[in-house]
Amino acid sequence: MLLLLLRLSRNHHRFFRWILACAAIVILLILARILPFGGIRRKSSNKTMSATATTSQQQRDAGSLLERRCSEAVEKLVDLNVNFLAIDFDQTMIDVHTGGRWKESASDLAKHLRPVFLHLIPEATRRNIRVAIVTFSPQTGQIREVLKIIFLAMSELMPIRGNDQTWSYQGNGMRLGKQEHMASAAEEVMARLQLGVTDVGKSTTLLIDDDPRNISKCLKDGTRAIWFNPLDPNRLLDDLLRLE
Ligand SMILES: [Mg+2]
Repeated sequence: MLLLLLRLSRNHHRFFRWILACAAIVILLILARILPFGGIRRKSSNKTMSATATTSQQQRDAGSLLERRCSEAVEKLVDLNVNFLAIDFDQTMIDVHTGGRWKESASDLAKHLRPVFLHLIPEATRRNIRVAIVTFSPQTGQIREVLKIIFLAMSELMPIRGNDQTWSYQGNGMRLGKQEHMASAAEEVMARLQLGVTDVGKSTTLLIDDDPRNISKCLKDGTRAIWFNPLDPNRLLDDLLRLE
């Protein structure tokens, strides 16, 4: 039919040229609806939205599972009368080793916090277990900033002991590894009566550290300790549940 119209048009029939133009417009409109460009775009966009919704749902599910497991682990600590949790910083609480020479901002460092501690520390604090950071890093000011960024007011309940020459341990306990850091932090906890924990001792303390040498010294000193595997951070929760 188009060919016929075309031929008639060539014969200078004005009416048929007009018909031809209308037909072309109608055909173009039909093609625009039939061809799938818009449809594909819409479908693709719908698929992207649906994938995004699935991903965020999965993240929410993973977050609440981690929260539940942290809660069970803290329950175990409460059962064992642990009231003082000493946590190493580099490669344990955060997923990098600063070497004590972090040059970026504290908020950049805060991005390296491991999710397991984001849940475990508030839950432990809620159950009246005091948490301290024990580290060989001298950058305790940076670490204090990181704690403030992440844990807000709760961070004020958390003593930090690093190699910053601002403290010394005068007691008779072991000084090797993280032992004097823990002893000094425990002294601070007990001295600050408003923290509500006045009976910290070896039997009520737990060290979490990625350095096996610190773990070994801690165990030799008669204090509970869990080696933190930086390659399998959430295994910490299984290890906490296995404590006796
Ligand atoms: Mg470490």
